[in-house]
Amino acid sequence: MGNARWDDEYDVVVAGSGAGAMAGALAAASGGLRTAVLEKTALLGGTSAYSGSAIWLPGTRVQERAGLGDSAESARAYLRALLGDAEEERREAFLATAPELVEFLEKDPAIEFRFQAFPDYFDAPGRLDMGRSFVPPELPVEELGDLAGLVRPPVDRDRAGRGHASKPMAQGRSLIGRLLLALTATGNGVVRTETPLTGLIVEDGRVVGVEAGSLRLRAARGVLLAAGGFESSVALREAGGVHGDANWTMAPDGANTGDAIEAAVRIGASTGLLDQAWYCPGLLTPDGRPAFTLGFRGGLIVDGSGRRFANESLPYDRMGRRMAAAQGPFHLVFDARSGGLPAISVPPLAPDDQVASGHWVQAGTLDELAGRIDLSPDALTSTVERFNGFAEKGVDQDFHRGEDPYDRYFSGGRPCVVAVGQPPFYAAEVVLSDLGTKGGLRTDPDGRVLDGTDRPIPGLYAAGNTSASFTGPVYPGPGIPIGSAMAFAYRAVQDITRNSP
Ligand SMILES: Cc1cc2nc3c(=O)[nH]c(=O)nc-3n(C[C@H](O)[C@H](O)[C@H](O)COP(=O)(O)OP(=O)(O)OC[C@H]3O[C@@H](n4cnc5c(N)ncnc54)[C@H](O)[C@@H]3O)c2cc1C
Repeated sequence: MGNARWDDEYDVVVAGSGAGAMAGALAAASGGLRTAVLEKTALLGGTSAYSGSAIWLPGTRVQERAGLGDSAESARAYLRALLGDAEEERREAFLATAPELVEFLEKDPAIEFRFQAFPDYFDAPGRLDMGRSFVPPELPVEELGDLAGLVRPPVDRDRAGRGHASKPMAQGRSLIGRLLLALTATGNGVVRTETPLTGLIVEDGRVVGVEAGSLRLRAARGVLLAAGGFESSVALREAGGVHGDANWTMAPDGANTGDAIEAAVRIGASTGLLDQAWYCPGLLTPDGRPAFTLGFRGGLIVDGSGRRFANESLPYDRMGRRMAAAQGPFHLVFDARSGGLPAISVPPLAPDDQVASGHWVQAGTLDELAGRIDLSPDALTSTVERFNGFAEKGVDQDFHRGEDPYDRYFSGGRPCVVAVGQPPFYAAEVVLSDLGTKGGLRTDPDGRVLDGTDRPIPGLYAAGNTSASFTGPVYPGPGIPIGSAMAFAYRAVQDITRNSP
């Protein structure tokens, strides 16, 4: 393959290998287009591989099979209630594509999905209390054979430099593994790891290829940028005004530094929402990296003055935004009664290691605890006393914790405002973490990247966190990042198929 101008030639080049990238690559390759997936690191899947793989695509056969009843019209109402008139065209495109995309994916023998209850994140018209998202079932490692080693392992094993356990691949690993199996089976797709996109090649106003270091790769029909956000770039976070810290993102170390966004901007692409991220509380782990923490079923979180400032059980992006508006440092205060962390964390945390590393402080009394985390003992004690009073009455008069179905989902329907009074007491430092940034290239309903005058740049498409999300500053429900990444990658490939030269 190739001539003097190109090292290799493809119809479609996809930058990145998260869920959107892989779904787009599969759509292209199964439509007969020669497709290359370029991945910067040695492993495929990015943050998508770390994820819980919840996918929020309403109105599909998965919800139908689960007997959910209406999930499309209610989703339209729900998104309208949250987003108003903003991004109506992209929202409608997303809703229209969801059923077709899932039908396309499930046609492949390697791919299937199952409904998994997880409440939507806002009390708004159209909400389904048990949500409408779904996940792929586990995937036995053996089914992937030699390809298994290409899929990024779960976050704890990956950070420790370990590969997959011999157990089935779960969650995001299953999703990426299944998409990889399907892509490989088309015979039209290749994955090239350790091949970062570094630039875009334009001829006569059209993107016709990419640079990957010294390589020049032709993309005769189109380039899809789905290479994550810029969560790991200190400079871009600062320029955009994203809260938190590049060291506190949950994305794989150093992977998502906004390369694809910057390459597109260099050829005239426009950007939006650069101050936005999918936020979450994070607990620091012994290696200084965060653990995404959600589903608080006990304990309380205090700010730098020792006071509560929010309903701790809020959906994680909403809690993250409360943290951004408050003054840290933040601490989760809990006691022996919860028998460890009263929440879910990814990766899971070992209390003894947390205490030994100093990220959790343990004390026999609240006064001592306050002293050790530099809070006024009076402030912390009165906050806990007031909170314990709410626990006794069963009503959080300050922040209404426990009143929403989401709050009670993780406590199995039991109260999540539980008195903190049984020593030893713990204070775990909480930082403002994120699951990735959500601002980036502005795109139209077909995933076409727009220039500064709102015109599509021929041959150039974007999806996932490389693009500015149609949800603006809102995280409507579980699986929106991955669901929308896949939907717009799929639409991009449909546009490539329809319209390319
Ligand atoms: C623990 C956890 C659980 C989550 N659970 C869910 C969930 O259940 N549902 C959901 O919807 N979301 C979930 N999220 C969020 C979601 O995983 C991410 O927002 C989403 O996967 C991002 O997809 P992406 O394709 O934009 O980026 P990624 O999945 O991060 O993929 C980007 C890829 O591009 C590569 N890359 C970067 N630069 C280049 C370059 N120059 N050239 C080539 N490749 C490049 C990266 O190495 C990476 O592999 C979760 C996140 C975490 C951390």
